[in-house]
Amino acid sequence: MEHELIPDEVKKVIKDTFLNELKNDVHVEVYTKESVNDKFNEAAVYIMNVFAELSDHVKVSFHTVGDEQSKKRDVQRSPTLLIEPDTYRIRYTGAPLGEEARSLLVALLMAATGKGILSGPTSQKIKEVKDNRNIQVFVTPTCPYCPQQGLSAISAAVTNPAFVSAEVVEIYENQDLAESLGSLAVPQTFINEIFTGAGLQSEELFAEALLTLKEPVFDSEELTPGEPVEKDLVIIGGGPAGLTAAIYAVRAGLNTIVLEKTALGGQVAITPVVENYPGFMRVGGKSLVDLMVQQATQYSDIHLGEVVKEINREDERYRITTSKAIYITKGILLATGADNKRLNAPGEKRLYGRGVSYCSTCDGYFFKDGKKVFVVGGGNTAVTDALYLHNIGVDVTIIHRRDTLRAQAHLRENLEKTGIPVVWNSEVKEIQGDKLVKSVRIENTKDGTLKEEPAEGIFIAIGYVPNNEIAKMIGLELDENGYIKADLTTMRTSLPHVYAAGDITGGVKQIGVAVGQGTIAAMTAFEDIASPYWVKKENADAVKSTS
Ligand SMILES: Cc1cc2nc3c(=O)[nH]c(=O)nc-3n(C[C@H](O)[C@H](O)[C@H](O)COP(=O)(O)OP(=O)(O)OC[C@H]3O[C@@H](n4cnc5c(N)ncnc54)[C@H](O)[C@@H]3O)c2cc1C
Repeated sequence: MEHELIPDEVKKVIKDTFLNELKNDVHVEVYTKESVNDKFNEAAVYIMNVFAELSDHVKVSFHTVGDEQSKKRDVQRSPTLLIEPDTYRIRYTGAPLGEEARSLLVALLMAATGKGILSGPTSQKIKEVKDNRNIQVFVTPTCPYCPQQGLSAISAAVTNPAFVSAEVVEIYENQDLAESLGSLAVPQTFINEIFTGAGLQSEELFAEALLTLKEPVFDSEELTPGEPVEKDLVIIGGGPAGLTAAIYAVRAGLNTIVLEKTALGGQVAITPVVENYPGFMRVGGKSLVDLMVQQATQYSDIHLGEVVKEINREDERYRITTSKAIYITKGILLATGADNKRLNAPGEKRLYGRGVSYCSTCDGYFFKDGKKVFVVGGGNTAVTDALYLHNIGVDVTIIHRRDTLRAQAHLRENLEKTGIPVVWNSEVKEIQGDKLVKSVRIENTKDGTLKEEPAEGIFIAIGYVPNNEIAKMIGLELDENGYIKADLTTMRTSLPHVYAAGDITGGVKQIGVAVGQGTIAAMTAFEDIASPYWVKKENADAVKSTS
């Protein structure tokens, strides 16, 4: 390779992981074909050579698509990696770059040990599958949610090798395959070519889809009532606010757990570049938040994919019933952040994942060879998305309903330098296409004229709505926009021992603010929980100040 894809410090981490966890041989067959995806073939060969150099237990053989071995294994695409193919049906179709290199590492460990990463009850469900299931998970190297979904599939293939096969498909290198199934977003999962889910699914939903061959619409797991688990503080949400709070709370001595319903990192995990977080001149959002995750994991229990179903007040405590357990806790910290606002234009919902996207980092990669896309919006996120897409080679145009951008000056200057066109004073009225996005209908807000513009993708970045379902569930006071009312000096809310931090409190939605509020909330929780004799008065004051 011209330059090393895997830096030395990462090699060291991989080597240590192999040393500690890879005790048996694992065989990988790499298939390539000249003149098809050449640079990706090169990358796949490079990565497997590095892995083999880092552990004697990684046994790699190289083959050509079209040779006898490839016919025996039914390999037609280049590059393809088969993992432990005499025992399992696990394949990576496309080079395991970026996030997928990490997933490959875990996949090798699973195949070597014969142990999946899914919980006991979920694995039990997967073992009940008695018909063939071929799981295909579409991914990109930059999508933070993809590895986990791919690993659920691989875990299922390891758990039930007689009936389950798993394929992680890199969407850009296999566009024909993605388009034939109507998949333009990641992660998307198809089982026996039936669409069974967009995004990262909880393991329960994933198993449900595997059993039923349908997209599950609810969390089907029956709660097995176990002994309630006692906690000092339950933090809900694993973005920067929740992760920071976890570090502070545990260091202060609180018995703490973080419940995150999807993937850790929150919005930062999908932020292409961060340039305003102190200590980092310019850093990928995923890299930044990975550091936070690593640190928080050193301190706190963190449960992924655990969904809060019910919260009740019991005397001085709260009883939280989740999809997996019951917690009796002295305090709750809500750090549930915010989510993308929908345009509510016809076609938006139907074509979501088929060219409509809310995550440029996840889905932009597919469009990188000059495909025509629109970004809708005029704030920081829209401009950041447009710059990112432009930089990876997408033909991008912004649609903005006003005649000036709200984005920060620095971003506006960068936008001007790139020459990304902006369609001013315009609103998207409809997104059109049959299986995939084909065009958008745009209305000029000044003169009401409508025009139709061809497009293969549309990235919507028009703002955020607070993730306030849990706040509503427990009856917290919210402001007129649905954000939690909190006393900003303590992060107490209108209920005793319930705190809020980060974007869910509205105001300036930035990582620095989330981190700061997470810190304050954890320290207040510590004071309240450790010093209950004076808290009652303060809580009463907090209720007054937020009402
Ligand atoms: C594209 C983009 C670019 C950005 N760029 C910057 C930037 O350059 N600089 C900057 O400072 N800020 C930036 N931001 C804003 C920044 O990412 C947010 O301010 C920050 O992530 C807020 O952190 P948070 O922890 O409050 O919430 P989030 O990051 O939103 O995290 C909330 C977490 O809670 C989880 N959650 C939600 N509901 C539940 C539930 N019911 N149960 C369990 N878990 C739940 C979510 O899955 C999520 O992981 C950007 C945001 C976006 C989207």
